[in-house]
Amino acid sequence: MNKEWKLKLQMEFPFMKQNNVKEEHNIYRRWGFECSSGWYELLRNCCQQITDRYAEAGVPIDFVPAQIKEKFGTLRFYYGYEDAPCGIAAIDNLWDGTSIRFEPGNECDDEEKKKLRHDIAGIVRVAEERSKHTCEICSKQGIIRTDLSWIKTLCDSCYDARKIAIEEKKKERAEKAKEIYEEIQEKKNE
Ligand SMILES: [Zn+2]
Repeated sequence: MNKEWKLKLQMEFPFMKQNNVKEEHNIYRRWGFECSSGWYELLRNCCQQITDRYAEAGVPIDFVPAQIKEKFGTLRFYYGYEDAPCGIAAIDNLWDGTSIRFEPGNECDDEEKKKLRHDIAGIVRVAEERSKHTCEICSKQGIIRTDLSWIKTLCDSCYDARKIAIEEKKKERAEKAKEIYEEIQEKKNE
């Protein structure tokens, strides 16, 4: 993600602060976002809604981002809470890309807290769903593309650009291989 936007998100939402410390075990705090800039607005919106939901509940924010990344072309936003760290966040079904998600929580949560945490799970889920229709590069409307070297959610123009780049790489590689082959043939004929 674009450096400026990364900083902006952290300024705007203190719970999103990174520390980039080598000893940090929290992947997000250590490495930050593992996705491209097209999802900035979607993530910003998600953080804003989380903030609003806490304000509505009138309690301090104890939400802890654990890892924010792209997987199988869509957003995965793993998180926990200060008293309920992120454990197993998801089980992915490799066959169809679906994923079973677990809502982090604590056995001691009272009804109010349970409700708050359930709503936050919903907010995160909506952001992840939106990523399935949002180009990860430029944020325009996109769809999941499965015929590239990597599964990606892309709009038409980013998809075309990616296709052309792959074709050019292929051509380059073929030319290089041809050159090497011809060199070998020449050497043989010497
Ligand atoms: Zn795009």
